[in-house]
Amino acid sequence: MSNRLIYLVDGSAARREDLASQIGHYGYGISSFDTLAQATAEAKRSLPAVILISLTDLEGDMALEIGEIQSELNPPPPIIFIADSGDPGLRLRSVRFGARGFFPRPVNIDALIGILDTLTTEREIQKHRVLIVESDSTLASEFETILRNAGILTCVISNPLTIYSAVADFSPELILMDLYYPEILGMELAAVMRQQHEFQSIPIVFHSNDTDQGRQTVALQKGGDDYLTRPIHPEYLVLFVLSRVDRARSLHSLMRRDSLTGLLTHTGIHEALEQRIKSASVEGKEVPFVIVDIDKFKRINDTYGHPIGDIVLKSLARLLKQRVWSADVVGRLGGEEFGIIINSMDAMTASRIFNEIRVDFAQIRHTSDAGDFYATFSCGIASYPRYGDLIEMENAAERAVRHAKNLGGNKVALIR
Ligand code: GH3
Ligand code: MG
Ligand code: MG
Repeated sequence: MSNRLIYLVDGSAARREDLASQIGHYGYGISSFDTLAQATAEAKRSLPAVILISLTDLEGDMALEIGEIQSELNPPPPIIFIADSGDPGLRLRSVRFGARGFFPRPVNIDALIGILDTLTTEREIQKHRVLIVESDSTLASEFETILRNAGILTCVISNPLTIYSAVADFSPELILMDLYYPEILGMELAAVMRQQHEFQSIPIVFHSNDTDQGRQTVALQKGGDDYLTRPIHPEYLVLFVLSRVDRARSLHSLMRRDSLTGLLTHTGIHEALEQRIKSASVEGKEVPFVIVDIDKFKRINDTYGHPIGDIVLKSLARLLKQRVWSADVVGRLGGEEFGIIINSMDAMTASRIFNEIRVDFAQIRHTSDAGDFYATFSCGIASYPRYGDLIEMENAAERAVRHAKNLGGNKVALIR
């Protein structure tokens, strides 16, 4: 769990409370302080993820105290300044003090949360996963050593006919294949792999010491993505594998991620739900599916403009991501409608949690040139196995949403 503790320094109690409540909705813990000296003293006991400082000037005591944070706290937490105006001179000095953000009042909460999210999310570095299909054990261990030394996760199988179970168990992001095996030709193996829908997008890279262009071309036609001629320079192999996997990752995420919110798309959610239902049917578990739909969203667009509507969508997306468990899957089904697959709790508990999220969302203040406003959502929950497949579940959750709207909106409805 990442550190989500924020220290807020502001001489005005009313302003502290207001900002703390806005940030608090997004799952941050806030400790407020009257002065920077108090915050620094406390930070020596419990290091916050970020310090938010409301400032009047950056001279004198303030400068000294910020210097103290930077020299005495290890590591010094990132600092964000909030100022009464966007005065360029003050902005520049804040940069010189190493500030990671500068917000003139009224604070743009959406942008502030965006920065807090970036600063507090521990970047999970996903190791690249490569399956080596190699019957020559010397060659296999040579590849394995080179890739492992570069921090790449590897799995080696010597019998090409076990590739299916290896792919299913290890979920490689790239397969390194020889052109020739005693049992089967590499290109035949690739062709067989490509017939399986779920294996179609894994890059397959052939290698051999065969320099025959004709055979190389055939291998590529049969479903290989690239061809490397041995001997392969270790550094080249590593760079090649990394760039191939990165490209596959970004293509994959483009297809399955919504560009506005970064959440899974409707297709992505469908795929994930199908998988969940499959494993739940084996484990005999309940799978609640939640649909969240913003109330009267068209009116928000009409009143405040489409770009402000987009910000409301992003703030809800953030709230959902932060408030559900990491095992749960959040997606944007389309427009102002979100779908959440619950993995961590039963439907009753989910409805309680979503009721809390509903209350919090209704308190998030959205700002626009035409004035501040609040938005609400309605929420419908239906679960497997009461509803036996994807379509039935989605329809039932949609009906629950409509029911909640008919009751006036800003409600959670659970279909049991
Ligand atoms: P209800 O309370 O019944 O849900 O009413 P509603 O207005 O929320 O629902 P309706 O389906 O009538 O309107 C949805 C609106 O969402 C219409 C569309 O313009 C808007 N919308 C869809 N996608 C986006 C988007 O990406 N950004 C913005 N700003 N608006 C969007
Ligand atoms: Mg709506
Ligand atoms: Mg809708």
